[in-house]
Amino acid sequence: MHPFTYTRVSDTREAIDAGRRGGRYIAGGTTLVDLMRETVEHPAALVDISRLPLREITATERGGLRIGALVTMSEAAAHPEVRTLYPVVSEALELSASAQLRNMASIGGNIMQRTRCTYFRDVTADCNKRDPGSGCAARDGYNRAHAILGTSDSCVATHASDVAVAFAALEASVHLLGPGGERRVPFADFLLKPGDTPQREQAVRRGELITAVEISALPRPLRSGYLKVRDRQSYEFALTSAAVALHIKGGVIHEAKVAAGGVGTVPWKLPEVERHLVGRRPSDALWTTAAEKAAEGARPLAHNRFKVALLRRTVERQLRVVGGMK
Ligand code: SF4
Repeated sequence: MHPFTYTRVSDTREAIDAGRRGGRYIAGGTTLVDLMRETVEHPAALVDISRLPLREITATERGGLRIGALVTMSEAAAHPEVRTLYPVVSEALELSASAQLRNMASIGGNIMQRTRCTYFRDVTADCNKRDPGSGCAARDGYNRAHAILGTSDSCVATHASDVAVAFAALEASVHLLGPGGERRVPFADFLLKPGDTPQREQAVRRGELITAVEISALPRPLRSGYLKVRDRQSYEFALTSAAVALHIKGGVIHEAKVAAGGVGTVPWKLPEVERHLVGRRPSDALWTTAAEKAAEGARPLAHNRFKVALLRRTVERQLRVVGGMK
């Protein structure tokens, strides 16, 4: 491990000052400490933000829900309003990582987590995300777990977060506070596709701190849920996943929010699927025809062609589950 300084801050201004000077924020440390041990990351200064007052879940005036950045994954998953209003969020959290990690990891850290591409974590392999311009060992290597959507010649790594898929489906937004003040970024713009700069993963400016994730008010009743398909039933990343939320009234789907995980370089919103559902009556045939649109634009690699069919089936199954809820 490389030498680094460690500072614990007690207010957000102090944190932002330290961040502006190049310090790296750390809260639960469940990603960054691993990467430092593996010498993938070597920050010169760590800024411990775990004592900042960002640990509340509150209803917003606009009828939504604001989840503080330092709320742990376990706390968010167990929160009564999250469970009642957005089961898709609590289910995504409960299907993530392990209980021990969920007790440590924060919501802000979860959406900032780095890819699980094995070549990224192997410092002897070529990796444009870790070492820009060096190449991408995954493209011609073993790429069964890699992305089929949103890829570029530079990088084909998936984004590993489950709850980010739920946030993408629900069109949440991320609140940031930095040297330039406060701003709110739609989730769709927060995580960046690799393009030619895979080392840039989030739309966060120097010194900016995530303060909260906000889910806007959605029509009620809203049925929702998360399905994760993986090689084993616990402590494993998604091969595919689907976050679905439906507002069904008078036997007709009035609103549909759908996103997929395990397949994209970022959580993959599925607007074609959503458009196909809205205005129609739930039926088995509808779930099938909507899910057929889930893999549009997919560019599979040598070892992950199976994800195209698996993605369609994952979305179809979760539409059927959520659409059939009472
Ligand atoms: Fe690196 Fe991305 Fe290639 Fe993985 S897929 S080796 S993270 S450039």
